[in-house]
Amino acid sequence: MALALRAHARRGAAVLALCGAASAAGCATISTQQEVQLGADYSRQINQQLPLINDRATLQYINNLGRQLAAAADQRGIPYYFYVVNSDAINAFAVPGGHIYVNRGLIERADNVSELAGVLAHEIGHVAERHSIEQLQRAQGANTLLTILYGGILRRNPGQVEQVGVQAAGSAVFAGYSRDAEREADRVAVPYLVRTGYNPNGLPSFFQELLTEQRRNPSRVQQWFATHPTTQERITNVQAIIQATPGATGNARLTTDNQAYQAFRARVRSLTPAPRDRR
Ligand SMILES: [Zn+2]
Repeated sequence: MALALRAHARRGAAVLALCGAASAAGCATISTQQEVQLGADYSRQINQQLPLINDRATLQYINNLGRQLAAAADQRGIPYYFYVVNSDAINAFAVPGGHIYVNRGLIERADNVSELAGVLAHEIGHVAERHSIEQLQRAQGANTLLTILYGGILRRNPGQVEQVGVQAAGSAVFAGYSRDAEREADRVAVPYLVRTGYNPNGLPSFFQELLTEQRRNPSRVQQWFATHPTTQERITNVQAIIQATPGATGNARLTTDNQAYQAFRARVRSLTPAPRDRR
């Protein structure tokens, strides 16, 4: 017990030093490098908790698609990682530092590549616009984040403070974003899609399907609606953004669907069914 306390005190001093070095004004700002480190640590924890699909071809496809979009989106040049969660629930979420999780149920429900690309572009928008890191900062303060970060650098088991921090981070990510952040992620997603050659109408078209699904099978989309409020008004807003974006309409070169996507989706459908527990 005494040993644990001493270790704690020592760690506290080291964290303060790290804060002092990071910024003269305290620890208010998380740098890109720190965000990447935090994201890596945090996603490692998530990966231990969630049932992930490990199929090589599936991961290769979604990482290729997602990284194309991320390269057109995030000016910081940070690496992005895409994961497929073996869950029937239709949902996707982003962790700071470029870790994007997409449920298998969402892929099965996305009729064409432009719909999946639309959702990925939206989630990438949350990372690139720093919504996800700002939300974590709001939820637990930059000091706690840096404590978690420091634990990650030392590569040791998380201490009590860090475990609490990770839990707070979890509730922040799963609490969803503000309506403003949602609007902004939609707004930036449209030019990402156009730059990468995907038809941006996939985004409102997928939202429309979610509204239909909500009437038909509400439990399947419950997580999505809790974290990404989706309404007819939001769909109208995205359509207006598309109309106002140069090159987004009447562009025959934009891809709506292709064979590769349909093969990917068929493969995902053929994988061992999701566990009954819909997490
Ligand atoms: Zn969102």
